Amino acid sequence: MQTIAFIGLGNMGGGMAARQAAAGRQVRAFDLSEAALARAVAAGCLAADSVAAAVADADVVITMLPAGPQVEQVYREQVFGAARAGALLLDCSTIDVDTARRVARAASEAGFVFADAPVSGGTAAAEAGTLAFMVGCEEGHLPAVEIALAPMSRVTIRAGDWGAGQAAKICNNMLLGVSMIGTCEAIALAEKLGLDPERFFEIASKSSGQCWSVTSYYPWPGPVPAAPSNRDYQGGFATAMMLKDLKLAQEAAARAGASTPMGAQAEALYALFAGLGHGGRDFSAMLALLRGQLAT
Ligand code: NAD
Repeated sequence: MQTIAFIGLGNMGGGMAARQAAAGRQVRAFDLSEAALARAVAAGCLAADSVAAAVADADVVITMLPAGPQVEQVYREQVFGAARAGALLLDCSTIDVDTARRVARAASEAGFVFADAPVSGGTAAAEAGTLAFMVGCEEGHLPAVEIALAPMSRVTIRAGDWGAGQAAKICNNMLLGVSMIGTCEAIALAEKLGLDPERFFEIASKSSGQCWSVTSYYPWPGPVPAAPSNRDYQGGFATAMMLKDLKLAQEAAARAGASTPMGAQAEALYALFAGLGHGGRDFSAMLALLRGQLAT
C-alpha cells in the first residue's frame, strides 16, 4: 500500500487527504494551520511536524497549496532535500504554467517523477473523491499518476507534457468565472422580472442555459443543497482564488496573444468584488454584487 505525504490541508486538500486515508493508504499530513492539520488527523491522517518529516518515507508527495510562490518554495526548500529518490511528486494546486514547468524541470533533475495535476470540482467533489484531474506529465508516467490519484478522482485526463495540466486548468476556470457571472446576472434579472429564482433553476437546468454554475453550484440557496449559497457562501472556492486564476488566464493570454474579452471582464468584476472586502467568500457570492446589494 502506498505511503502518501499530503502538504496543504485547506478547503480542498483536507477532503482530498481524507479520501486517501479512507482508501487505506498511510497519509502523512502537514499544513501551517494547526486547525487544518487537526481536521486531517480526525479524518485518519498522521500528523507530521514539518514538510520534510511528511515526505521522508513517502512513495507519493501531493501538494495542494494556494499559489505558485508557495509551491515553488515548498518543493525547492523542503521537498527536494528530504524526499526519497524516485518518489512521485504531484502538485494539484492551481498555478501558472511557467512555475509549473520550472518546478517540474528542477524535480526531474533532482531525480524525482513530477506531474502537475490541478483539479476541477470544488470542495464537495474533494470530499466525495470525484474530482477531475488535468495532468501534465511524461506519457509513460501517467499510469503511476492515475494510481496515486485514484481515491480522489472521478476522471483523470492527461493534457500533455509538464505545464499542460495548468494550461487546461486556467482555461477551464476562465470559462467558469464567466459562466458564474452569467448565472448570477440571469438570476438577478429573473428576480427583477418577477420570476422566482428557484423556478428559474428548474428551467435553466433543463434548457440551453444549463452549465455547471447552474446545475452543481447554483448561487441562490435552495436548489443545489451542497452549494456554498446554502451556507452563507462560506467554504467552497474563495473569490480571491478565482481572482488569482482569472489573473493567471489574463497573463497567459497576453503572453500568447489570445483575445479573451469576457475573461478580462470577469477578472475586473472579481477584482471589484474582492476589493469590497469579499475575497474570503465563495465566488458564487458575486450574486450579491449583481443584485445591487453592495455599495461600489
Ligand atoms: P486553502 O487556502 O483553503 O488551502 C491552502 C492550504 O495550504 C491552507 O490550509 C494553508 O495553511 C496551507 N499552506 C499554505 N502555505 C503552506 C506551506 N508553505 N506549507 C504547508 N501548508 C501551507 O485553499 P484551497 O481552496 O484548498 O485551494 C488550494 C488550491 O486548489 C489553490 O491553488 C486553488 O486555486 C485550487 N483549487 C481550489 C478549488 C476550490 O473549490 N477551493 C477548486 C479547484 C482548485
